[in-house]
Amino acid sequence: MEAIQEFLANILPLVRLGAIFLGAYAVLLWAASVLWAYRDIRRRTEDVSVQVLAVGIVLLLPFLGIPLHLILRPPQTLAEKYERALEEEFLRRDLEDQMICPECQRPIEPDFILCPHCHTHLRRRCDSCHKVIDLTWRICPYCGHSHVGSAPTVRAEAYPVAQPAEVRRS
Ligand SMILES: [Zn+2]
Ligand SMILES: [Zn+2]
Repeated sequence: MEAIQEFLANILPLVRLGAIFLGAYAVLLWAASVLWAYRDIRRRTEDVSVQVLAVGIVLLLPFLGIPLHLILRPPQTLAEKYERALEEEFLRRDLEDQMICPECQRPIEPDFILCPHCHTHLRRRCDSCHKVIDLTWRICPYCGHSHVGSAPTVRAEAYPVAQPAEVRRS
């Protein structure tokens, strides 16, 4: 009997020490989770009220708040959102850079001579070097061949052809 009491008396401080360590570890873990939630939510939103709410949940519900935060947090980080916005902007610009026929407004390529849809004359070939040049040019910029007198009048007033969308808006 005495031996057991002595054993318990010896082991009690150890148990107490272990409990203190475990408690301290839990507190540290909780503090770290709050810090993590704070960093995580700041990467996902600039809305201060949402940030306060997210940190508050993790702070007031130790450990249980983390899964709640994972469910409620905005799915995209701000960096991801920014990347997507950039991608969309590039796509939009690609569309705007698309050239259109001045006659039927359908998409054309910049080196088309005729509109494939409505057959409007868009450009012509140089008589000398056969490169595609502007209908209104009197001289070929590639070979210097003069087109004075030979300039076709067909739909020359339809120029400019290659308008980016930004110019078109005005
Ligand atoms: Zn056309
Ligand atoms: Zn030429």
